[in-house]
Amino acid sequence: MLNIIVCVKAVPDPKEACNIKIDPHSKTLMRCDVPLVVNPLDKNAMEAALQLKEQFDVHISVLSMGPPEAGNIVKECLALGADQGFLLCDPAFGGADAYATAFTLAKGIEKIGAYDVIICGMASSDGSTEWVGPEIAAILNIPVVTMVKEIVESDRDRWKVKASLENGYRLMQVKLPAVFTVTRDLNTPRTLSFSGIIKARTKEITRWAISDLGVPAEAVGLKGSPTIVSELSSTESKREAEIIAGTREEKAEFLVQKLADVGVL
Ligand SMILES: Cc1cc2nc3c(=O)[nH]c(=O)nc-3n(C[C@H](O)[C@H](O)[C@H](O)COP(=O)(O)OP(=O)(O)OC[C@H]3O[C@@H](n4cnc5c(N)ncnc54)[C@H](O)[C@@H]3O)c2cc1C
Repeated sequence: MLNIIVCVKAVPDPKEACNIKIDPHSKTLMRCDVPLVVNPLDKNAMEAALQLKEQFDVHISVLSMGPPEAGNIVKECLALGADQGFLLCDPAFGGADAYATAFTLAKGIEKIGAYDVIICGMASSDGSTEWVGPEIAAILNIPVVTMVKEIVESDRDRWKVKASLENGYRLMQVKLPAVFTVTRDLNTPRTLSFSGIIKARTKEITRWAISDLGVPAEAVGLKGSPTIVSELSSTESKREAEIIAGTREEKAEFLVQKLADVGVL
């Protein structure tokens, strides 16, 4: 059996980004006012695991670190077809930066035990550092391939994948266990089915707090974060319209001058 762990982050619904507020004290995002959804690229990660489960003997575990409400996104992944769901939930995990998040997830993965493939999205839609996947691999001391856009071969102990580059791709062969971060080019995520939702009703979510992971409070959350966000401010984007009069040549000349004035040209 191939054991796949999919890391799924609960993010503020991008459609409600305008309602996201910043905690003036901890300089972290206040997630309670905006509904949490599955991070868009983690749906591609889930889809990759589900497609493999349709071909091979695969066990899918979903792992998330987040507030109690993140339980809903784990449940959603169970309804899509995951076998087990795990939620790392403890106030001590709050305010974690990318390293502390990766550390906590890596400890969760070690506690789950069996893993051959760990699939993450390339980036989250809120923090978007793209660091968590590679940092999980570094902490677990296993290889990582980022920006996977195609799984070419998926043998029991070795995968061959195409990973995006600006103008092309790298063909990577990697010995398992390994971490893969995926892009949206990899697949088209399936949507929830009624039968899947019904089946998920009986699937329990395993919830772990800091005491279950056996790690000190200094290693997780805000305390365990080597990076401190000292300032987080939202910028006002102002759009101004200017109608340019004159002939086509005059308009073009005016525009070139304008762009030169603002340093674009
Ligand atoms: C605006 C903003 C700027 C930030 N800047 C920084 C910064 O410069 N440095 C820094 O260290 N932190 C930063 N953070 C904090 C960082 O975003 C959080 O620590 C976050 O929990 C993890 O990083 P990420 O979302 O960027 O992950 P990414 O690396 O972008 O996420 C990639 C993948 O990792 C997995 N993953 C990430 N978080 C979780 C989770 N909680 N549960 C399960 N899977 C998960 C998912 O598969 C996800 O697709 C910032 C946060 C915000 C909102």
